[in-house]
Amino acid sequence: MIDLNSGSGFVYGRPESGPTVGARLLSLIDDALAAERAASPPRDYLGASRIGEPCARRLCFEAMAVPIDPDKAFSGRILRVFETGHRFEEMTIRWLRLAGFDLRNARRNGSQFGFSTAGGRFRGHIDGVIVAGPDLGFPYPILFEHKAVKDSTWTEIVKRGVRVAAPVYWAQVQVYMAYLAVERTLFVALNKDTQALAFEVIEFDSAAAQDLSDKAVAVLRAVGSGELLPRVAATPDFHLCRMCPFERRCWANEAAPERGAILPPWRRPS
Ligand code: SF4
Repeated sequence: MIDLNSGSGFVYGRPESGPTVGARLLSLIDDALAAERAASPPRDYLGASRIGEPCARRLCFEAMAVPIDPDKAFSGRILRVFETGHRFEEMTIRWLRLAGFDLRNARRNGSQFGFSTAGGRFRGHIDGVIVAGPDLGFPYPILFEHKAVKDSTWTEIVKRGVRVAAPVYWAQVQVYMAYLAVERTLFVALNKDTQALAFEVIEFDSAAAQDLSDKAVAVLRAVGSGELLPRVAATPDFHLCRMCPFERRCWANEAAPERGAILPPWRRPS
């Protein structure tokens, strides 16, 4: 029998000293994922997927590509969660195509469909668009938006609908529909624990889309002036602040930074 532990120092029955093989492997993978992420350019525009974020100041930080607090970097586990979300989306697309839907999720050159406005400072990339398929009572084309979510979120979405249970997702598709001139979106929620699928057809709400677009303009104006919009809360113990990756930076200086103190990427000296 081949002894796969030969030379490893591992002895059956004797507790390992130092980190276990599993811990070391995990650390190697997570460090590699963190390095990969660090090497990718930060997003320096306001993303449509974020416009439903309740804190306008956080959106300013994001649009300015301000570095997140050092202790808030995405862990390897979270980076793995992000990647599995993409894999689940690929599977759902395959299943829908198998079921007879003509779902387009990329141009011939492989790039995603989407929109870009305000000189590229407000952008969004859709998961796809279904241009034809079985008769389900809605006309085509219909946008396709996919989220792979944990069981509790999935259950809330099924019970209360996307608008109430996941307002950031709802806002995201409203903006997509507005800029891409499509009247409805097929929202698909995949339960990552059970692989159950839930579907909701979200209708375009022009008033809400206008408000969201105005919000984007307000954020970009503030960022363009090197200013920050108001915080979502009066104290840092607010639940959204405790989860915010800019918490320390945001509350380190109680007063708003002076005009020009934080410059957006396109205004920083090279
Ligand atoms: S810490 Fe709170 S107020 Fe500051 S950016 Fe984050 S969510 Fe907004």
